[in-house]
Amino acid sequence: MKLLTEQASADNIARILEKLDTFNSDPSRGTTRVLFTPVEIAGRNYIKEEMAALGLTVREDAIGNIFAALPGTDPSLAPVWTGSHIDTVLQAGMYDGMAGVVAGLEAVRLIRAAGITPKRTIEVVVYTSEEPTRFGLNCLGSRALAGALTLEDAERLKDEEGRTLAEVLADLGYDLARFKDIPIARGAVHGAIELHIEQGAVLESLGLPIGLVKTISAPTNFEVSVRGKQSHAGSTPMHLRHDAFLACCEIALELERLAKASTSPDTVGTVGKVEVVPNASNVISGLVQFSIDIRDSDYETKSKLVAGLQTFFREVEARRKVELDIRQINDDKPTHSDPAILGLLEEACIKKDIPYHKMVSGAFHDSMMVGRFAPIAMIFVPSKDGISHNPDEFTEYGDIAKGTDILVETLLRMTME
Ligand SMILES: [Zn+2]
Repeated sequence: MKLLTEQASADNIARILEKLDTFNSDPSRGTTRVLFTPVEIAGRNYIKEEMAALGLTVREDAIGNIFAALPGTDPSLAPVWTGSHIDTVLQAGMYDGMAGVVAGLEAVRLIRAAGITPKRTIEVVVYTSEEPTRFGLNCLGSRALAGALTLEDAERLKDEEGRTLAEVLADLGYDLARFKDIPIARGAVHGAIELHIEQGAVLESLGLPIGLVKTISAPTNFEVSVRGKQSHAGSTPMHLRHDAFLACCEIALELERLAKASTSPDTVGTVGKVEVVPNASNVISGLVQFSIDIRDSDYETKSKLVAGLQTFFREVEARRKVELDIRQINDDKPTHSDPAILGLLEEACIKKDIPYHKMVSGAFHDSMMVGRFAPIAMIFVPSKDGISHNPDEFTEYGDIAKGTDILVETLLRMTME
């Protein structure tokens, strides 16, 4: 096997990340690049240009997942994937997702520079909308690849303007008749590695440049509406109130209690979005809408927590005489990294003398969905102060380069099997 002739270039990684960051609809406050907005489309086009400049064959499926192939010598073998996403939440940073896409491009550049033709095809993948920013559901592209987002779902999912995902795709020229061709059969991908920023402070606290993800925690999300009775804050005695906000508070505190009491160390529960109607200081709220976000590396303990919460919903409803409307958005299963790929990643770290830490990912990633049809693993690089989904998100280019060196080494091993 021919050897790589160069190490990953932090300068090249910086060049692409910084150029990609110019496609930004709110440059005064970090990075905002929401699915299929003009800046996101421009960002996609830029990445496709970089892919083409590397001599890769670029194609897109009917939900806009982008695949850039470095053809292997044996087209009968299943390809190896690497990639992540380029969409963001509002006022985010410039690394979440993008680091993994750029690492994939840099890995392919290193392979080409060394004159290596792998046996298996390598594909750099950009998954459509990992963030739920526009349509309220995460991992749209990778979910569709896993067969868990159908055309019917795309016709149902609406953005804030009431436009459905299917309408938006059709307007952009995506062929909805090809939607049924998106799912990937088990065995059709040999393995997939995603490099991502950690979005937590574990690696920084250990002073280590590389994390190897054993398990990706999976979310269960609810949207809840509480209907109480809107009334005057002065003239309504305490015992005659049906305060929607207090019902929401009780549920949020019960969620905290259940998460803290969980037997899994990775259980977390959050009420992060609350809309109080009418939101006035002298009015008892008659309507509150709020989000519930539960994550765990263990599906059983998460299901137990959800069951406990559902019992509590009924209890609060009866006791406070309010009406709860509960919509479950998703109930995803944690994904475990493939032991064989994890082993290769560890060998690459040892060979390159780069210290690493095996860990759980509390955040979800496209790999969670890809893991439903292919063996996956993830490489984490440190996030300064653990901050992400925030303009202050920061990762050293040099750490992304170290992660890329581990990535390319492992991709090559996987493509030679
Ligand atoms: Zn991400």
